[in-house]
Amino acid sequence: MKDRILHYRCEGLCDAAGLNHAQAALLLQTTRQGLEILALGSPAEVARHPAASTRPPETLHHEVIIPGLVNAHTHLDLTHMGPLPYSREGGFVGWVDRIRSQRATEPAEIIASVNEGIRLSLAGGVIAVGDIAGIRQLEPLHALRESPLIGVSYLEVFGMGARQADAVSTLRKTCSTTSSNENGVCLGLQPHAPYSAGLDVFAAAIELREQYGTPLCTHLAETSEERSFVADAAGPIRAMLERLGVWDDRILAQVGQGRHPLHHLSSTLNAGGWLAAHVNDLPEDGLDTLARSGASIVYCPRCSTYFDHAGTFGPHRYRDMIDAGINVALGTDSIINLPDADRISTFDEMQLLHRRDGVPPARLMRMATVNGARALGLPEIAFTLQVGHVVAGLAAVRITEPGPESPLEAIMKPGTSIRMLQPEPSP
Ligand SMILES: [Zn+2]
Repeated sequence: MKDRILHYRCEGLCDAAGLNHAQAALLLQTTRQGLEILALGSPAEVARHPAASTRPPETLHHEVIIPGLVNAHTHLDLTHMGPLPYSREGGFVGWVDRIRSQRATEPAEIIASVNEGIRLSLAGGVIAVGDIAGIRQLEPLHALRESPLIGVSYLEVFGMGARQADAVSTLRKTCSTTSSNENGVCLGLQPHAPYSAGLDVFAAAIELREQYGTPLCTHLAETSEERSFVADAAGPIRAMLERLGVWDDRILAQVGQGRHPLHHLSSTLNAGGWLAAHVNDLPEDGLDTLARSGASIVYCPRCSTYFDHAGTFGPHRYRDMIDAGINVALGTDSIINLPDADRISTFDEMQLLHRRDGVPPARLMRMATVNGARALGLPEIAFTLQVGHVVAGLAAVRITEPGPESPLEAIMKPGTSIRMLQPEPSP
């Protein structure tokens, strides 16, 4: 591909590193590595760059340019299911049963579903994902590597008690036979959760990270059902494992010892490099435990609302986590828990937290860009706008009416819309 010059004039430019410039211009060059920023600032300043004269500026009316966003937790292979209502009577286990029975299982169907998820992510200005690939599936990894998205495809494994050995051998075999990083997409590993993967599986994932540098993720402290299972080996999850024929008494060597899920995994997390999704249920010393471990947390606000986790555990502690020095990113989780199917984007999570909790736009921009990058092991400078940076992507937010607000404040107002600016969406 030949390098191209891109030149934009826009309503504003903003990012997580303090850029918040109204009436701005941006000059870039497309390279094999990405989009290199040649100049930014006022239109007059940018026009002085020698490359600016080779390309007249394209004016983006009422649009603010921001870095492409990160969605640190999603399940693109479930996109074909679309949004589904949550039934309180069936509870979390009823919901899991429904996903199990409806999810695509044929490779071609899985790829089609992931491709639709990729399209909906790009439509929402998302350029990087932490995608949970589904159980022992590599199709999502390959689909992502064929797409403009970058990030991590986490291979998911289940296995407790006697079934741990098989899960461990799947992880080892996959790492030794699959390229770890190609076209900006890393192979990652995801022991599914403390109620579905045993501690030996988590330990093997840590070993493989040391050997191959593989990013690691898990679902943690998500539901009250998880807490009863890990602490007491009881409740609806125990009943589900028995019903599915995957319960064996060896599981009792690791769960049922009165521990909170976070304490159950604390030495695992202390090995470093973990990304934990959700963490709705935080024990009293939880902030210290998490901060010491260096784990990143991905909070999925619309998912927590869908399951009413705040009704069970109280409001999510993401702000306390950030104040305790924990890296907190944003995720959407799957399309199933989103209210509509137009896009799968953390832009909507930013807007929700701004509207509901009054979170300052600058903090939200960090959560949806650089914090997400750190959580996925991507370079943070690919998500901030500075001369010399090679950025992963650019999104444009159309604001309602230009007013006295800064660009960063304007994009958080109701009624805005977002699109991917670069890479250009395919027709
Ligand atoms: Zn998930």
